[in-house]
Amino acid sequence: MMGDRDFRSIVENALDSIGKELEINIDSADIQTIHLHEVVKCLRRSYYDRIDPQEVQRRGFNELLSGLLRKLQYGSDPKEFAIDDIKLKGQVDMLIDDSIFIFRGATNELETPQANDVLYLNACMWIYDKPDGIIVYITGDRKETTFSISRNKKMFEEIIRRVRVLNDLLKEQKTPILEPSTECSECQYYERCFMKKKNTKQLDLAEMLGFGSKKD
Ligand code: SF4
Repeated sequence: MMGDRDFRSIVENALDSIGKELEINIDSADIQTIHLHEVVKCLRRSYYDRIDPQEVQRRGFNELLSGLLRKLQYGSDPKEFAIDDIKLKGQVDMLIDDSIFIFRGATNELETPQANDVLYLNACMWIYDKPDGIIVYITGDRKETTFSISRNKKMFEEIIRRVRVLNDLLKEQKTPILEPSTECSECQYYERCFMKKKNTKQLDLAEMLGFGSKKD
């Protein structure tokens, strides 16, 4: 019979292969082309991804949703936006008439969209020059939450600033500063930024305080 561990590693390998197939290819040496998804996440993580990458562990098929849609007939071609001599490259999941769609997996129904998804969608609205943008979150049990946003110039200027910062740091081979956020706990570079993750033994408080153990 197939052991638990074997089964898990088969699923992990399958997720990994599909993920590699679907991910946006980045030419690490071409620092004059910055990809939009590199600047809506932690810049330090994007820098490490180019300079000294480490495999990311994928958690489920939900994460692959956006990549799968990009490959289907609805998927749009990538588009570039010139920022002096730097090209900012973005790609939306679906483009219908004047509306841009991005799709994301979620573990539960959200009340507000994720900040990095809003930044991504807003930047796409400038890159593709479209007035309407929609983010669709889909949970594992197929519940969907939809948010529509209008184009915001200030938000796009912040993206342009981050593109320039990443480009400069790549040129100078300088590691960006830490950007602590909830992203860190899932980040493959956690130990480079903070400390070694340890599996601590669960403590029996009652026993420590001299009241005997619950297990007694
Ligand atoms: S651990 Fe956090 S600060 Fe460090 S690279 Fe990852 S996301 Fe960025």
